[in-house]
Amino acid sequence: MKTIFEGDQLRIDVLNGYVFMSHLGAIGTGVSTPEMRRACIAFLEYSETEGLLPCPVCGGKELQYSISLDDDGDTYHGVICLKCGITGPQMCVKHSAMRAWNLLPRNQEVNL
Ligand SMILES: [Zn+2]
Repeated sequence: MKTIFEGDQLRIDVLNGYVFMSHLGAIGTGVSTPEMRRACIAFLEYSETEGLLPCPVCGGKELQYSISLDDDGDTYHGVICLKCGITGPQMCVKHSAMRAWNLLPRNQEVNL
């Protein structure tokens, strides 16, 4: 069992590919939006980034998903390169963000 997030109200564990979400707060109380958001981010950071091409700018392979939330509560998904910091196109769903990242123009000669 690996704990990928532990906050005041919520804990997320992963075991053999299954995700377990535990509510740590008192029964009947909700999980606050900021904590839910942090939990989502932790989960996405944990999620595999397999299937993503290296960074189009620096060729970096250390990539991370990001989710941002606007004032209307809409979420935007994107891919960030941890080496040079560029962010791919922001999309409404994760697989679109992955696809948009992979479609960015790349220089074939980038050394990986
Ligand atoms: Zn990069």
